[in-house]
Amino acid sequence: MKALVNGREAGSKEMGCALCGATWGNHHEEVEGERLFFCCDLCAAGFRRTVEEIKRRTGWDYIDEIQLVGNYHAGRTVTAISGGRSARFYVKFNEDAEIETFREE
Ligand SMILES: [Zn+2]
Repeated sequence: MKALVNGREAGSKEMGCALCGATWGNHHEEVEGERLFFCCDLCAAGFRRTVEEIKRRTGWDYIDEIQLVGNYHAGRTVTAISGGRSARFYVKFNEDAEIETFREE
């Protein structure tokens, strides 16, 4: 799965955390068969929960690409792409990286 954060490719140590884009920290996690870089375990948990929620709502069994725009304070717009399909959501986390708000956009 490809991840874009605020318009830039992310998900590796060089490109930044797959959720917030930060390049500090060192946490890797496999999500949807892809080893992605996260700055910390909270970002990894938030990302994983977002992927799970998108799959639950859309019924898709895989996601090719996730585009995140926003930040922790404002929440994030998430565009998910699977094959030729796409869906847009808004997600906001609490300080434990649990989903506080999740809605279709
Ligand atoms: Zn992060």
